Amino acid sequence: MNLQTPRGTKDILPEDQKYFKFIQEVIEKQAGINGYEKIETPIFEYQSLFVKGVGEDSDIVEKEMYEVKRLGEEKPKEKEKLILRPEYTAGVARAYIEHGMKSWPQPVQLYYFGPVFRYSRPQRGRLREFWQFGFELLGADDPATDAWMISLAYTICKSLHLTDCVILVNSIGCRSCRPTLKAALKDFFDKKKAILCEDCKRRLESNPFRVLDCKNKACQKIASQAPPLIDQLCIKCKNHFKQVLEFLDEAEIPYDLEPTLVRGLDYYTKTCFEVVLKSDLGRQNTLGGGGRYDELIRLYEGPNTPAVGMAFGIERIIDILKKQKVQIKKSEKPQIFIAQLGEEAKKKAVSLLDLLQSEGISARAALAKSALKSQLKMANKLDAAICIIIGQREVVDGTAIIRDMREGVQEVVEQEEVLDRIKRKLGMK
Ligand code: AMP
Repeated sequence: MNLQTPRGTKDILPEDQKYFKFIQEVIEKQAGINGYEKIETPIFEYQSLFVKGVGEDSDIVEKEMYEVKRLGEEKPKEKEKLILRPEYTAGVARAYIEHGMKSWPQPVQLYYFGPVFRYSRPQRGRLREFWQFGFELLGADDPATDAWMISLAYTICKSLHLTDCVILVNSIGCRSCRPTLKAALKDFFDKKKAILCEDCKRRLESNPFRVLDCKNKACQKIASQAPPLIDQLCIKCKNHFKQVLEFLDEAEIPYDLEPTLVRGLDYYTKTCFEVVLKSDLGRQNTLGGGGRYDELIRLYEGPNTPAVGMAFGIERIIDILKKQKVQIKKSEKPQIFIAQLGEEAKKKAVSLLDLLQSEGISARAALAKSALKSQLKMANKLDAAICIIIGQREVVDGTAIIRDMREGVQEVVEQEEVLDRIKRKLGMK
């Protein structure tokens, strides 16, 4: 029996929950302000969805997908193979078609927050199960919406106290200019083929864009000298990109042009962007990324629906927050701690806990501890504002001691009056 988490996965312990909570609160707030509604899609989907959308020769489809099978199940038919979702956008696009969202007011604006799964060699910042949040805006092709998405990425980084970030932007063209871009890249990489990794040598034939996104150091070095993609764009894509940049300039959203930036997923068209740390410009540690995907829904045989979106990796954000020592408020501390001495007092403590909690007051006790000293120590550790003490004498007298932990003063009150007194002290009355 193996009692460790599987390789590349980790428990999210209480000490890290505050980071998740903080990020989720920021996301929910921004979603609300910007009119995005939440969507949950299944954790597993049909394989074909990703093969078709993300791309047959993408890293995700070639090497990183986990198949889901019932134990003992005979080989499922090819079209019924199930995969743990390696990303969300494909599932959101499927949901858009399946639920006829084209008939909803456009654009449809959705956000998500949940785990995704990709096989990879585990290393810092690279997990096999990790969490993503993301935003999708479906049914609009105006360059202003690309800029709005990038500006949302910027706002989210600021709200998450990620001050050391930079947004890299580029355009990777559309259906009509992609062949020109492809040919220019192929031409360039053909001359350096000998230095490329085996994967890139093979992919050079089918999809030279992949070389730009390869994680191999040697390939990355060559990729950084590749011809700028924007030089090869068709006039429509050039204009679109120019307008995106104008909107960003107007809104004073800082960005860097990155002429060889592409995304590792096939469905992107036109604008693409990534959020990276300034101190790590090598794109080793991308915090998030996104772009336009005008062809994806049509690729799934849905209605023509231009779209733009982005996704961020939550564990990587948490890593940075920790590294930059960003102070996150711990989960709520109890307002009240009840200390007790003796069996009778313990009974009173339990019913008092119940009474306070039913009034919405956060209250804690250490019912398994009998020594008063260790209970008071715990009250201090939890940083409770008020401590109620019921000892043997208080049981006999029908009273309780209420100690204000901040001011260090205490008073004795009748047990029936405890709730009323506490409410007054907490400003609830
Ligand atoms: P992608 O869907 O590949 O664009 O990834 C979006 C974000 O997810 C990245 O910018 C990372 O922050 C995060 N991410 C991607 N792959 C991993 C991984 N294997 N482990 C942890 N985070 C990841």
